[in-house]
Amino acid sequence: MGVNLAQPAPGTQPDLGFYNDLNGELQDKGFLVTSTEELFQWARTGSLWWMTFGLACCAVEMIHVNMPRYDMERFGAAPRASPRQSDVMIVAGTLCNKMAPALRRVYDQMSEPKYVISMGSCANGGGYYHYSYSVVRGCDRIVPVDIYVPGCPPTAEALLYGVMQLQRKIRRVGTIER
Ligand code: SF4
Repeated sequence: MGVNLAQPAPGTQPDLGFYNDLNGELQDKGFLVTSTEELFQWARTGSLWWMTFGLACCAVEMIHVNMPRYDMERFGAAPRASPRQSDVMIVAGTLCNKMAPALRRVYDQMSEPKYVISMGSCANGGGYYHYSYSVVRGCDRIVPVDIYVPGCPPTAEALLYGVMQLQRKIRRVGTIER
């Protein structure tokens, strides 16, 4: 019997059956059998290293989510200072025209497979500044966005939920090549 390495659904209690399966398999045979695809997904969802791209007020909530109260590292998501070590970009704040080329350059420097979370009304669609001459009306005009987190600003819990949704999406898409 192969072990299903899929993690418990977000928002649920840890699935003890999952750990019992692992334990039982190891005790019975001394090794685990699973598919490469599931192994890759398990590793990928458990180590989302995010590139901080704090552009405005939303960034404060993004910082909160990594502090001890919310402790996003519980979910394997840790901040990185270099795009070359990151596979998730969190766009947190108002993207202006001048910053757009830098955003794209950082995205291009990230390693594959890479994902983008758009955080807050400004990143999602320009927000308050939608009609401003200097603001990009949504960061998805510059980079492909996987998850949109609504709010102005979204709470830290909302961003955390967005990260869980990204993990769910990675598991659902289920391809090694993106
Ligand atoms: S969505 Fe609201 S909180 Fe976030 S950057 Fe825009 S104005 Fe600031």
